[in-house]
Amino acid sequence: MSEDGMTRRTFVKEIAATAGLMGTLAAGAGEGDDMADQGPIRARFLWTWDHCTTWALNRPGGHDIGASNEYGRAPETFVADYSCLLRWCGRHGIDGVVVWGLLRDRHGGVDSVKRLCEVAKESGTKLLAGTGVNAYGGVYYEGASPYSLERHLESHPELYGVTADGTRMVYDFGTVGPRKSHHACPSRPENREFTLDSLRWLFETTGIDGVQMEAGDTGVCRCPLCEERRQHPVSGFSWEDMALAYGPATDAIRSVRPDATIILETYSHPQPYTGPAEAPNFGEGVPPWAAECIAGFPSDVLVQWVCDQFIAPRNSVEWTDAGRPPEGPRRNIMRCHVGTYWGRFRDELAIDWLADMATKSAAHGFDALSVFGESSPFHASSELNYLALADYGSAANPDCDLGLYLDHVAGPLLGGPERARRYLEIARLIDDRPRIAEALVEARRIAAGLDGRPAQRWTWLCNYLASFVYPEPPVGDE
Ligand SMILES: [Zn+2]
Repeated sequence: MSEDGMTRRTFVKEIAATAGLMGTLAAGAGEGDDMADQGPIRARFLWTWDHCTTWALNRPGGHDIGASNEYGRAPETFVADYSCLLRWCGRHGIDGVVVWGLLRDRHGGVDSVKRLCEVAKESGTKLLAGTGVNAYGGVYYEGASPYSLERHLESHPELYGVTADGTRMVYDFGTVGPRKSHHACPSRPENREFTLDSLRWLFETTGIDGVQMEAGDTGVCRCPLCEERRQHPVSGFSWEDMALAYGPATDAIRSVRPDATIILETYSHPQPYTGPAEAPNFGEGVPPWAAECIAGFPSDVLVQWVCDQFIAPRNSVEWTDAGRPPEGPRRNIMRCHVGTYWGRFRDELAIDWLADMATKSAAHGFDALSVFGESSPFHASSELNYLALADYGSAANPDCDLGLYLDHVAGPLLGGPERARRYLEIARLIDDRPRIAEALVEARRIAAGLDGRPAQRWTWLCNYLASFVYPEPPVGDE
């Protein structure tokens, strides 16, 4: 490291420390790198629910989709799953792992989280708690804890949020999980104090690196206090409720851990919304009042957005130059739902779609990305997706170029660059199933000509693709 480089690195660290973002800024580049050596994407995250995360293989009880499932694996498996995940991230340039359902009695509560904080520290990856504010269970997702939102509302039923007809807000997720989300009224100071106490407790107790916070997207409180307070229409969520909640919550966290990584969810894409609804809903664009609400967010945070409709394979809404987050001190993370049943299929190859996401995100002012990370990289296409997340927008691939990724990252793992290209073409046959049988002959031949993990990756693809044409003819899939 030259003296010049050292000076610049020190400068970068000072800026980062000022912004409370030391970890995420330094992340994406190894210790010793400086800004000039980085690509446009500076931080990468894997996003998970505890009940769907199955990195420790051949253990029972995992779900494959859900937003509110019970936890079905053993407490030791929970620690094993996330230990594998954190260590893999540390080795492969992923900066943090978000865990929803992190605190549950069922998988060891605080003790398990403390163990995982140690693993995260050793791995050089951040462990972030998915944290609901007035929804999604609060800080302690499930159990006999004073910091469980459900317990809080049980003790103080008068603090529930209410629907338009005056009934308590208890959201049922239907087929994606039996646990219900109990909503607290965001206008009640007692609920705000509960949230701030919970967050201070979390950081005083566990040694966690940060949070990804959400203010709820499953309905908004319609009590007189809330209705009077809000100036703007709402959908499944309220921009004003976010702005109300996120500032004090961030202050509470920083009072304990000044350098915590804090990610604030918007449930939105920054493209101006032009649809017919009064207020845009999950995954849609922003209403005119979003910018003033974001201006009320704390400045030293990462704001999280979602882009599924705006990238391949959907591309259902055009992402124009106007689709940029508001300028300002905040950094911005783009997230999408690929390789999961929330998008299409769990373990589906998405390396080209991720290139589209990374390219567009970098061009529109984003410097961080997040994708689902629930499935083990034993499943070769998930492995390739995670490695694509690590590669796109890095110093090695600043233009988020698919070809470069196939040559330098996927190629060595699959028997060479040409075979990596063929892997992608064959994996895409999920959308052209009559051709799968013929492609399997070729893929099995490629696997037979390779050894070790490259052979195994092709074997995995064969088995995965074959499942889309079994039995013949396919049943129940149309
Ligand atoms: Zn209310």
